[in-house]
Amino acid sequence: MIVRQLTCGAIRNSHLYAHLRKPWGSQSMARPSSDLAAFREIFSKANNIAILTGAGVSAESGVPTFRGAGGYWRKWQAQELATPEAFARNPSRVWEFYHYRREVMLTKNPNPAHLAIAECEERLSKQGRKVTVITQNIDELHRRAGSKNILELHGSLFKTRCMSCGDEAANYKSPICAALEGKGAPDPNTHDAQIPVQQLPRCEKTGCHGLLRPAVVWFGETLDSDVLTSAEKVLDSCDLCLVVGTSSVVYPAAMFAPQVAARGVPVAEFNMEDTPATMRFKFHFHGPCGTTLPPALMGHRVQEK
Ligand SMILES: [Zn+2]
Repeated sequence: MIVRQLTCGAIRNSHLYAHLRKPWGSQSMARPSSDLAAFREIFSKANNIAILTGAGVSAESGVPTFRGAGGYWRKWQAQELATPEAFARNPSRVWEFYHYRREVMLTKNPNPAHLAIAECEERLSKQGRKVTVITQNIDELHRRAGSKNILELHGSLFKTRCMSCGDEAANYKSPICAALEGKGAPDPNTHDAQIPVQQLPRCEKTGCHGLLRPAVVWFGETLDSDVLTSAEKVLDSCDLCLVVGTSSVVYPAAMFAPQVAARGVPVAEFNMEDTPATMRFKFHFHGPCGTTLPPALMGHRVQEK
């Protein structure tokens, strides 16, 4: 139910702001609790936990987003390069941008928030309990931290899709192709490498050799319906939902978490700031999630009687 409206509407990717309807503010709601013991009591009984994560988790690992003040690659921000139109116009420049982002990730590591989530999943799985990460991040830091159940709403920097045959494949090559070696410098004075399209990453399927693109959801593109359907199932069945490092104003958390809360399921927000949705949630833990999340998700001691 939750996500269905996304799949059949003109809903696009994360950059779309959800409608913030008046009723949120017009009801007088209590401020969410920041009582860690109360959260942990609920956490100790939850069997199916959905964890929505966003850019804030990656930011604490130093992953650049190329958005907002100072967030430039050469003269551009992500919304100017991460589009099908930009790729059609200048695939060499867009590949330089993504090559740079892939290479940057080789120097970044999961932070305590990623690790706490992964450890929680592993620990709870031994008790027959389930943790699913639903992320808008494309950097695979959850996977590298050890998380297994991950739904990547926006795809991955380390997957490619063939423009000819549609094949999607994992790709961790560095550099991704010979022509991109040493390219992609972010300084504003760098000239475009103008790599001929035949030398950009190409499909390795027998007889195809089509042009590859990053398998990420670009501005103006719709999300993968299989991933959305899976996310819907998780959110419909979860008995605890965490919103970590993402503003609940911006899709997907804006759409998902308030509806989970409306179902009467406890939602706990771990974020640097309040958001318009905060008042709908049971818990809000303020601060960097690398600091707030580990104590919230650490193991419970064996039952003391
Ligand atoms: Zn192909």
